[in-house]
Amino acid sequence: MTTTPRRKRPALKVRVVHRADGWPLPDYSGPADCTTNSQREQDGRSACNDTPVWKVVEDHGMHLTIGFYCDADLPDEHRHLARIPA
Ligand SMILES: [Zn+2]
Repeated sequence: MTTTPRRKRPALKVRVVHRADGWPLPDYSGPADCTTNSQREQDGRSACNDTPVWKVVEDHGMHLTIGFYCDADLPDEHRHLARIPA
């Protein structure tokens, strides 16, 4: 086991959680959309209508960011964390 030197920026902790039916919004006001849609809109691409089955929670230490992704849009850097529960 290696120890990481402190004083670096805190390691980002990421959790990737699968939910076959898609995720509700954090406040349960409705189903989540694929988080890529805001980027798609900026890029002029059409919106993603696939079910966001992946929730990615990034713990930055001071705050969390939460993203929802359909299977195709799950960022590659998080795929190794993505496990479909048996
Ligand atoms: Zn998508």
